[in-house]
Amino acid sequence: MEDVTIICEKCKRKIARKNDLIVTNIFYYLVAYHTECFAKEQRDFSLFVGDLVINGFSGNLLAVMAGILGILVLLIPGYRLLALLSLIVLGVRAYSWLRFERYLK
Ligand SMILES: [Zn+2]
Repeated sequence: MEDVTIICEKCKRKIARKNDLIVTNIFYYLVAYHTECFAKEQRDFSLFVGDLVINGFSGNLLAVMAGILGILVLLIPGYRLLALLSLIVLGVRAYSWLRFERYLK
């Protein structure tokens, strides 16, 4: 696998481990933070940084719920377009993995 360095958006240092990684959004960009830097950023500068954590347990839970809801709304005539929202959530989750998480242990 190619060696890609994941850089923390706040301190600009390398993120070495997956359990020290937080992926969140700034508007529609996904950015990576150290766990500690993300906590600081939320305290100091939360205007631009979303509260949504895309990776880790909460991100996986959100993706699973989106998947289930997506399948359920597909069964309801007239609401099928709402399944697209689930696809967006799942797409963002997959993108976070492709962009950041797969390079870390
Ligand atoms: Zn950092």
